[in-house]
Amino acid sequence: MEIYLDNASTTKVDKEVLEEIKKYYKKNYGNASSIHSKGQKISEILTQGRRKIAESINSEKEEIIFTSGGTESNNLAIKGVAFANKNKGNHIITTKIEHKSVLESCKYLEKQGFKIDYLDVDNEGFINLNELKEKINEKTILVSIIHGHNEIGTIQDIDEIGKICKDKKVYFHIDACQSFLKEKINVKNFNVDLVSINSHKIHGPMGVGVLYIKTGTKIESLFNGGNQEFGLRAGTENIPGIVGFVKAIEEQQKVDLNEIRNLRDYMIKKVLEIPESKLNGPKERLCNNANFSFKKIEGESIVGLLDGKKIFVSTGSACSEKDIEPSYVLSAIGLSHEEANGSIRVTLSKYNTIEEIDKFVDELNNIVIKLRRISPL
Ligand SMILES: *Cc1c(COP(=O)(O)O)cnc(C)c1O
Repeated sequence: MEIYLDNASTTKVDKEVLEEIKKYYKKNYGNASSIHSKGQKISEILTQGRRKIAESINSEKEEIIFTSGGTESNNLAIKGVAFANKNKGNHIITTKIEHKSVLESCKYLEKQGFKIDYLDVDNEGFINLNELKEKINEKTILVSIIHGHNEIGTIQDIDEIGKICKDKKVYFHIDACQSFLKEKINVKNFNVDLVSINSHKIHGPMGVGVLYIKTGTKIESLFNGGNQEFGLRAGTENIPGIVGFVKAIEEQQKVDLNEIRNLRDYMIKKVLEIPESKLNGPKERLCNNANFSFKKIEGESIVGLLDGKKIFVSTGSACSEKDIEPSYVLSAIGLSHEEANGSIRVTLSKYNTIEEIDKFVDELNNIVIKLRRISPL
């Protein structure tokens, strides 16, 4: 039996979601731009989906832009706002622990003459609000900050950051791909202008996401083409993906997050009984996240040996897995090279059981003992 504990990378698609998607490949196919009735039915489905997603974050449906996923939403938010507001200023503030799609968008903008400040974080992954305030100047156009962190689970204080941004009149974007439906996101209460979310982190299909764009936000489209998505995202809409995303939201809204949290807390307690192990990141974190370091051994070796037992976890973030350098996130929260290299990330979903966790901890314990026995460190 497989034990999947890498739900921050992606999640298993729900049965109900798959059934819904199938309908739109088999029978109800059509292009929302077609004027015949088959196309117009799809256009209505698209509007319905937009409305349901809007409801899930308390926005208006015209503020929901469908994209190909979190990466595209982040690119559109950052570059789209940068290009549209370059007459006002060329300064953007983000953090050192963002997802690559944010960091690389910012690096790209640096080559185009924009100035980017990458905020430090403390050893729990939180930014310093005073530092943010000090860094905002008359050239600042955008602040982009991850809401719930994909590696260490830190949940930033979006309320306070939003107030600062509103006060200073700069746009505020959050990457909520991990926090969506795990933490409350209400765009009418938060002072946010842009929110990135995606489907495949909540048991929906890959390749579909949303950028919430508050009405009145100055932003430019990145693609040239048709007039879809209010002119902000050219290209035929991914209807099966969108209906799958909507269904995934409905299913995820039924989940008791406390069950996941309790199972995760149980796991943390058991794992920390392993000698010279440590939990990385904050005390309060996303309900499904844990990140551990084990002294004297490599995270990659642990992942590899667990893989041999059909147990799937990750080292740091999926995107940095193939790099030799330790996770930039773990370095940013002050872990030494050795601690960062000896880390694994374990992320749960509603599908995990206590039996799976017991089996995982058992195998992990054996593997750590074995690796330490042969470790040169
Ligand atoms: C997964 C993820 C992304 C990228 O989303 P894709 O849909 O895979 O492109 C961006 N940010 C965070 C925090 C993520 O977890």
